[in-house]
Amino acid sequence: MKVNQAEFIISAVGPSQYPDDALPEIALAGRSNVGKSSLINRMINRKNLARTSSQPGKTQTLNYYKINQDLYFVDLPGYGYARVSKTQREQWGKFIENYLLNREPLKLVMQLIDLRHPPTKDDQAMYEWLRHHGVPVIVVTTKADKIPKSKWQKHAKVVRETLGMDKGEQPLLFSSELGLGKDELWDLIEKRIGF
Ligand code: GDP
Repeated sequence: MKVNQAEFIISAVGPSQYPDDALPEIALAGRSNVGKSSLINRMINRKNLARTSSQPGKTQTLNYYKINQDLYFVDLPGYGYARVSKTQREQWGKFIENYLLNREPLKLVMQLIDLRHPPTKDDQAMYEWLRHHGVPVIVVTTKADKIPKSKWQKHAKVVRETLGMDKGEQPLLFSSELGLGKDELWDLIEKRIGF
């Protein structure tokens, strides 16, 4: 995809604020700090459109970014942040679950996992939940540049096995720093939205 235009649209706190132009939506899920904002910025060739988060877990909003006149990236609030209360976590769950289950234009969830570490319990729960509900998901492993290339496959295997991904399915290796995985990820997104 050639990105000619990318703009921040809204931090939505509920369905009444979601865009109503029916463009396909690609959501990003992952723990706080996993690299969601950096991935968005890299995908659209901008340094700082998606703010790299200074207050992880505090923003309980869906952040919409419009790409050309073609699609939206929807940045979901980071999960697994220890410093929010149980009530806040439950609210987070309902809000996001509703979006993921009922949002008609949602075409794909990119679930981001830090390649350096095995997926956490939260990562596993998220992946299982998406699969269980039949939400299309691809696993993107971030920060690949932080470990030697010789270890990428070994780490990817741990991610695949810990999440219980199907045989033959591979996480997509990504680095916002290097731009690694960018073209491959755009190809998958375009395929998914029928470009
Ligand atoms: P978010 O909370 O998921 O939106 O995470 P951010 O995009 O804000 O990234 C969290 C931190 O990880 C920031 O300091 C980023 O600079 C860093 N980071 C994100 N992606 C990468 C990457 O691919 N490589 C490296 N080296 N650092 C990254």
